[in-house]
Amino acid sequence: MDVDNHAEELASALGVDKQEVKEDLESLLGYSVPLDEAKQSIRRKHGDGGGGDAAQPESVTLSEITTGLSNATVTVRVLTVGTRTIQYQGDEQTIREGRFGDETGTISYTAWQDFGFEAGDSIVVGNAGVREWEGEPELNLGSSTSVAMAEETVDTDAPIGGDSDLIDLSPGDRGRSIEVQIQEVDSRTIDGRNGETEILSGVVADETARLPFTDWNPHPEIEAGASCRIEDVYVREYRGSPSINLSEFSSVTALSESVAVTDSAPRLTLGEAVDSGGLFDVEVVGNVLEVRDGSGLIERCPECGRAIQNDQCRVHGAVDGEDDLRIKAILDDGTATVTAIIGAELTEEIYGGDVAAAKEAARDAMDKEVVADTIRDELVGGGYRVRGSLSIDEYGANLTVEAFEPADDEPAERAAAVLQEVRG
Ligand SMILES: [Zn+2]
Repeated sequence: MDVDNHAEELASALGVDKQEVKEDLESLLGYSVPLDEAKQSIRRKHGDGGGGDAAQPESVTLSEITTGLSNATVTVRVLTVGTRTIQYQGDEQTIREGRFGDETGTISYTAWQDFGFEAGDSIVVGNAGVREWEGEPELNLGSSTSVAMAEETVDTDAPIGGDSDLIDLSPGDRGRSIEVQIQEVDSRTIDGRNGETEILSGVVADETARLPFTDWNPHPEIEAGASCRIEDVYVREYRGSPSINLSEFSSVTALSESVAVTDSAPRLTLGEAVDSGGLFDVEVVGNVLEVRDGSGLIERCPECGRAIQNDQCRVHGAVDGEDDLRIKAILDDGTATVTAIIGAELTEEIYGGDVAAAKEAARDAMDKEVVADTIRDELVGGGYRVRGSLSIDEYGANLTVEAFEPADDEPAERAAAVLQEVRG
């Protein structure tokens, strides 16, 4: 832990400006004052006797904690405990994070040292710092914080322990445990903070959903087709959808019984899907309004795979483009519009021919656009059931299509959607 860390922890626990604390700490250390003594004297300066109970803030319930408080003492039930290493000012530091609950609510916490509590424990947390994290108060447990077992079990309505179904996970969750089937896994090398590192990424599934994952410290049990219990994962947001992260602290146990997985994606309207901010796996039904430019027979950069025009990649300059097929279709169901991006394999099916056939048609017509036109004739005006991954960025909502089929079995629904559209 470096000076900056100590300053941050101390400032948070005392509820004072970090820069001031850091300057004091640096100047004391500059005079060769031992670290503990230096911290103690800074606590005294800010009126905290350090160690004396008199300095403890009053006990509050979790619902009484606001970002306006600087510190608090609470009696809580530990709901989840996640362990993670973070990079802080060049140092690696192991922190614990999760949620506490009491009869009035729940709150996130970060513990800068190991206080030894586990999920299910009832504890009294004395003098925790309160900080704001994404608009919500969070407890910060540092060197000025005390943790003791509570005399009585603390009641809470919140679930204890981290066992979760995939559908219930949200970005920011920590210390969760899941039982999943590994559906896809790829190994790749990244340029990480400790040089080149191998990581695993892929897709996991259970009965409720499918989600992408990254294993930053590859576990040998993570194999395609394996069913595993994975303890202590944290959840981040990736293109608007939750993504599961395994660290060196995650434990993976192979399960002898196969985990049942869903073979369908949640079915939403386009409006609901777009409002969710992004979904890894979703099914929608809509009408193709338009097949956009850049569909049909296209060329890609052999280096990066970007679609290119006139043999010019905007990253790699002049290249010898490779032919490919794809469709960018505007899909609409009356509630919202997305661009469905259909890859080569499905495009071949829709077009009714492969790249070679498309090139031949283009040669015969002396115009590449005949391929896109054939696709337009096939798709525009039709209703389709589409499954894929929806991501939303500044350029709009893009649905990367995994499955695409006519929605003929649901004429009533489609008619309703079209009607809604006509009415505006
Ligand atoms: Zn390129």
